[in-house]
Parts: sequence; C-alpha cells; structure tokens
Amino acid sequence: MITEILIVGQGLAGTTLAMQLHQAEIPFLVIDDPTISRSSRVAAGLFNPVVFRRMNLGWRTDECLPEAISFYQSIEAITGKSFCHPIGLHRIHGSDDERQLWETRMQEDGWLNHIESSEPALKKPWFKQPFDGAPVHSAGFVSTLEYLGAARIWLKDQNLLIEAAFRYEDLNCSEPLLKWKDIQCAEVVFCEGYKLNENPWFPEVYLNPAKGELLIIEAPDLPQEIFNGKVYGVPLGNHQFRVGSTYTWNQDHAEPTEEKKQELINILQKMLNVPFKVIDHFAGIRPTVTDRRPVFGPSSIHPDIYTFNGLGTKGVVLAPLLAKEIAQYFLNGTPIPEDYAIERFQWKPLH
Ligand SMILES: Cc1cc2nc3c(=O)[nH]c(=O)nc-3n(C[C@H](O)[C@H](O)[C@H](O)COP(=O)(O)OP(=O)(O)OC[C@H]3O[C@@H](n4cnc5c(N)ncnc54)[C@H](O)[C@@H]3O)c2cc1C
Repeated sequence: MITEILIVGQGLAGTTLAMQLHQAEIPFLVIDDPTISRSSRVAAGLFNPVVFRRMNLGWRTDECLPEAISFYQSIEAITGKSFCHPIGLHRIHGSDDERQLWETRMQEDGWLNHIESSEPALKKPWFKQPFDGAPVHSAGFVSTLEYLGAARIWLKDQNLLIEAAFRYEDLNCSEPLLKWKDIQCAEVVFCEGYKLNENPWFPEVYLNPAKGELLIIEAPDLPQEIFNGKVYGVPLGNHQFRVGSTYTWNQDHAEPTEEKKQELINILQKMLNVPFKVIDHFAGIRPTVTDRRPVFGPSSIHPDIYTFNGLGTKGVVLAPLLAKEIAQYFLNGTPIPEDYAIERFQWKPLH
C-alpha cells in the first residue's frame, strides 16, 4: 500500500492533522494504539483566550480561536456528532489584584472581544467569590473523547486507520520511500504525545511531561456552565462536571493518586457553596515544552520523518490552526512560523 503521509498517534495532534490533510486532499493513513497515552482522552477540552495566571491573551489566540471553532464544527458536520460547545465560562477572580487587572484589561484594545465586566458575578450564589468573578464569552469546551471517537469511526470507515503499536525499529528508511510493514509513504509524522522523549529520530527535542489529574463530580445544585477559579469545572450533563486539573512535572506514569484527588476536593470545597460527590478520577500526561510552544518539523537525522507535538495545556485551541499550516507546508511548501518550528531545538537545545 502506498500513501503520502503516515501519522503515528490519534490524539488531538494526530487526529486534527489527519482531518486537515483530508480537507487539503493530501493522502494519509493513521496508526494508533490508544492504550499508550490517554492525555487527549482525559482532557477537559477547555478553550479559553485568557491566561489567567498572567492576565494575558494566549499565544495567537485571535487566529487560533476562530479556526478551532470552525474546524470542530466542520468535523461535526462530517461525522454527524456534536462535541464542540462554545458556551463561554465564568471566571472566579483569585484576588483583588486580579479583579482590578481585569477591569483595566476591559479598557484595552482586543480584550472586549473576550471578557465582560465583573457585575454578573454577584448573581451566582452557588460559588464562594470573595473577589467576585466575570464572564469570558469567547471560551467553551470540546468533548475530546467524543471528538476523537467520532473521528476514529470516520477514519475506520474510510480505511484510513490501522490499530497497532508502532515500533521505531520497524521503520525501514533504506529505500526512496519510507516503509512500515507493507505500507510505503513519502513522510512519517509522529504525533505520539509525551512518548516523543523515547523517539530515536528526535534526540534534540525534549518534552517536560506534565502529569495532570481530574475528577468527575456530581453536583445537582450547580448550573450546567463552565466555571474557572483555582480549579475549573466543565459540565457533562446529568449534573456531572469534569473538574481539574493538577500538575506534577517530569513524571511519566499516568496512574491517578489519592494525594491529588484530595488536593482537588479541598480546592473545590473552598470554591463551591453547594454539595458535591466524587464519582470518578483520571490522570494523563501533557506533552509540554519548556518554552511553552508546540513543535513541528523534520528530524535532523532523516528529512522525511517529522514530529507534531508539544501542544501542552492548550491542545484543543492550538491544534486546528497549526495542523492547517502543516497541511499547507506539505501541500505547497508554505514555511512554518519560527515560533513552533523544530529548528529552535537544533540551534538552541532547551535541556
Ligand atoms: C488532566 C489533563 C487536562 C487537560 N485539559 C485540557 C484542556 O482543558 N484543554 C486543552 O486544550 N488541553 C488540555 N489538556 C492537554 C491536552 O490533552 C494535550 O495538549 C493533548 O492531549 C496533546 O495531544 P497529543 O495528540 O499531542 O498527545 P496524546 O493525547 O498523548 O496522543 C498521542 C496518541 O498517540 C498514541 N501513541 C503514542 N505512541 C504510539 C505508538 N508507538 N504507536 C501507536 N500509537 C501511539 C497514544 O496512545 C495516543 O493515542 C489536558 C491534559 C491533561 C492530562
């Protein structure tokens, strides 16, 4: 079998790249073993233009957000499933300083597209809000499990998915085309999440694996909206919410821990004025780069072997625009913006 691009991994990176290649009419196949990394499947799927810790707008937000929403809606149309929910979120301010900075930002160019004033916070007695709170109306969430599941069914129906674990030693690079088992291709793109650190083709790229844990809670008195304070809650229907998330750096086992479960419960108790009970608990490992930028480009060892990775904490909002740019790179050689080009590792190692 011959194809143009072989994608390894069907998380947010691999799935979104596959669907953008499909829209650019570039032939591809995807290989995935979903048991190797669950990051995309456990993710809360939030998209949100504001980095609350610094009260900045996120990297390329004004380009990424509209592309993300129109991309997910186009995949909803292809698959007939609904998973993209641009419903806004309610921010619970963390301090007086944050509230004041919020009001200052309201006066600045570009922010009015995203945030509103603090007034409506007063009408939400189910939260403890000593510093008030306010809406971010351009936020929302993608149910990643449903997005990846819908895309997986579609890929299978088109005979574009191979369910297998890819072993690096099975990639034959001695012929003009790359070869994996009976498949020949012009390029391989590894979208393997935090497992990139084990990939022999990319010794210069180093990810800081950031383990995250989440709870599923049931809270019948909490309205089905997204809240975001010291932790966030994403509505799942049936009075349930996905609540997260924690950070444990440089850990590459994805088992949930009692310690982080308690940490999330303690924070929630300080945020909510209504009862809740925990009904499930998950963990996953985010593929994070020290300079907080994704990475795309060829291996320095073989020019036809690529990686698309490093989506970190923002895979949902970043993947659609970057995957579209990558499709244009393969289609007609459009250069990749320097910010996330792999060359930055080759000239300036980050580890
Ligand atoms: C707790 C938590 C909460 C999060 N919340 C959010 C959020 O609210 N919003 C947001 O935007 N992001 C969030 N993220 C981050 C987001 O999940 C990541 O950006 C995203 O998952 C990265 O996707 P990926 O495709 O690069 O990697 P992964 O999701 O790890 O996908 C890699 C895929 O490749 C497969 N694979 C790996 N190696 C092989 C191999 N050798 N052969 C075959 N298959 C292989 C894996 O099994 C997997 O299917 C969260 C992450 C965590 C852990």
